[in-house]
Amino acid sequence: MLSKKYNPIESEKKWQDYWQENNIYKYDFESSKETYSIDTPPPTISGSLHIGHIFSYTQAEIIARFQRMQGENVFYPFGFDDNGLPTERLVEKEENIRAANLPRSQFIEKCLKTTKKYEEEFKNLWLSMGFSVDWTLQYETINPRVRKISQKAFLDMARSGKAYIKESPVLWCTTCQTSIAQAELESTDIETTFNYITFLTGGEELTVATTRPELLYGCVCLFINPEDKRYAKYIGKTALVPLYNYEIPILSDEKVSLDKGTGVVMCATFGDTTDVEWYEKHKLPYRKVIEADGRIGEDVPFIGGMKVISARERIIELLKENNLLIKSEVMAHTVSTHERCGKPIEIIPSKQWYIDILSEKERYLKAADEINWYPSSMKNRYITWVENLKWDWCISRQRYFGIPFPLWYCSKCGKPVFAKDEELPINPMEAKPKSACSCGSIDFIPETAVFDTWATSSLTPLINLKWNTDKDLTSKLLPMGLRTQAHEIIRTWTFYTIVRSLFHTGKLPWKDIMICGFVMAKKGEKISKSKNNASSSPKELIVNHSADVMRYWAAGARLGTDTMFSEDDLKISKRFITKLWNAAKFCIMQLQDYDKTRPGVLLPIDKWIIERIKFLEGTAAEYLNQYEIGLAKHEIDEFFWNDFCDDYLEIVKDRLYKPEIHGEKEKLSGQYALYNVLLEILKLYAIYVPHITEEIYQSYYKDFEKPISIHKMEWNMKSDIKNETILSFGENIKMIISEVRKYKSERNLSLKDKISKLIIRIPENQSANLLKTLKDIKACTWAEEIEINYSDNSSIEII
Ligand SMILES: [Zn+2]
Ligand SMILES: [Zn+2]
Repeated sequence: MLSKKYNPIESEKKWQDYWQENNIYKYDFESSKETYSIDTPPPTISGSLHIGHIFSYTQAEIIARFQRMQGENVFYPFGFDDNGLPTERLVEKEENIRAANLPRSQFIEKCLKTTKKYEEEFKNLWLSMGFSVDWTLQYETINPRVRKISQKAFLDMARSGKAYIKESPVLWCTTCQTSIAQAELESTDIETTFNYITFLTGGEELTVATTRPELLYGCVCLFINPEDKRYAKYIGKTALVPLYNYEIPILSDEKVSLDKGTGVVMCATFGDTTDVEWYEKHKLPYRKVIEADGRIGEDVPFIGGMKVISARERIIELLKENNLLIKSEVMAHTVSTHERCGKPIEIIPSKQWYIDILSEKERYLKAADEINWYPSSMKNRYITWVENLKWDWCISRQRYFGIPFPLWYCSKCGKPVFAKDEELPINPMEAKPKSACSCGSIDFIPETAVFDTWATSSLTPLINLKWNTDKDLTSKLLPMGLRTQAHEIIRTWTFYTIVRSLFHTGKLPWKDIMICGFVMAKKGEKISKSKNNASSSPKELIVNHSADVMRYWAAGARLGTDTMFSEDDLKISKRFITKLWNAAKFCIMQLQDYDKTRPGVLLPIDKWIIERIKFLEGTAAEYLNQYEIGLAKHEIDEFFWNDFCDDYLEIVKDRLYKPEIHGEKEKLSGQYALYNVLLEILKLYAIYVPHITEEIYQSYYKDFEKPISIHKMEWNMKSDIKNETILSFGENIKMIISEVRKYKSERNLSLKDKISKLIIRIPENQSANLLKTLKDIKACTWAEEIEINYSDNSSIEII
């Protein structure tokens, strides 16, 4: 028997411990069953969790449970992405230190300590949400096992030339003082001024408009569109750079727009990516203005040592004083910023490691067609990204807490010397190459850069499947079944994982990819801790409302669409939990004298509710196979609230209470249906609300069923064949009940008020079933007399 009231706080903890103790979610390496594997995002260790995490991770978790209940051997590991810039920032903030001011090893020590603490917190939160992760498969992207995989993968790429080192202009964040990749850029609109500046050419004045006058000292030429008749005569001549008075060539290029600015543009090293393109295409010289720390180089006249903004102001002043500034126009301008810090990026030449991605764009585009995208619209975001790639993937970062490059440079000939596979993982700053360079030198300089975090997290399928170890599962389980993730990281995580998997294994990383939406605080505003718009912490929400309530809410959204959260929304979930408990309590009370006997005959209405749930199971499974968690839940809810609670329980109640009127066999028929349908309802809901369903299962069903947990059961009734005869009969009975209810409520009658005569019109082929249901209908409608007429259009009349 169930207690009067459900106590989620007590119950949830109890079953979470039970699941862990009994290894309910452990992947079975020996099983001959099909494996369904999930590549789930390792959360970045960058601070506290928020409601958005609960939202997206719950959706993947529900899929894991669904697949398990379809009989799959589910491989559901979990990892943490615990190195890189976001983690460094967190540690700097928590410890009130600056990485740059500490010995490297000391800073890394602090990072390791802090990440441990956060990982513990994350894991506890996940456990308290009832996530069915197999924690024996846990990984952290900084741990030695992963370091080894990541370094080995890099070496494979470097040896084959897929990864290469090159001195060239890179995207550079002067705030974080590291190179960054194209995928880490964001666009921000700022207000700036367009400055019209006078250049001199052979005594004539040429006006050039620029937003970055502080780069005048880096100006290497002027460009004019070859079609532009106004300026054709200047092409091939030279001009004098204002203030600095050195000569530069005037060249032509189709990329100069005819209607923006004056039609004459300056090319400086480097104002933007077009400057880089021109620099490479026209083999222009490099003139350094900005240093890695964001200041103007000391040797730049007038502005040396200044920060960019003050340098710009100073140059404008100077131009004005010298009558070289014609006008300044305020305008909105889009600049590229670094997604981690929001500051505008610069382009600075430096030596960095790259992974070649541009030469295989076609292969990566083809991969998009070979993977199933849910929702399918997300595929376009990937395609657009790949089509617009302009840079190879820069994977070296001038930071501290990350996986080091396993290599040194020969101090004599400069050649990179790679570590041997058997030495991995290795820190080149603490070890030396075992043999001399091919030039004979034994003097080496270690590479001090670390891998971009994506260079490691792009390997999650290989990390999960223990690639390149004696337990390597890649030949058996790659492609994995599913990748789940948010849409903002399609250009990074999705794309890079495809690149790496194809290179290292020749296979796709996964068959399906499921993209979740965000949780919004206000319309269009993503919840994040940094914006301080996250109301309560997930921990508080779970304590206040229970994990099942949070999960039921998270399951409601349509796949891939953003959703809004307010605590008010949880009322619906709470009402559901209460309803499920009360309905189960009622059913189990009616089953006290039932011993799982199968009745000789099943009454038609009992047959109907069983057929109904069989078909529902089929429909829900179809939605869930398309990752439509919310649509499946909607179907199950409709059945549970309407067909089961409102109609079936009302119809069968009297039969269960009064066998002396309805008959013992008839009661048994009802008990059989009740037992089986409630069990199936619990199984259907088990993927959404695993705690309360387990509590009910353990309180009653466990004595009759073999599995030690409801989560070891399967949806074995599911059917996609519609038994039309019985289903349409059931619909008619529902119609009769609801019409009578409507009749009574319109007349302010109580449901138990008698009606003298109920005339039922139904198709003749349903008469046999109807006759067997008359006692139930009479009891439920309080009709004193029932008259049956045949008609193809079903209806009733009350007298
Ligand atoms: Zn930055
Ligand atoms: Zn050498």
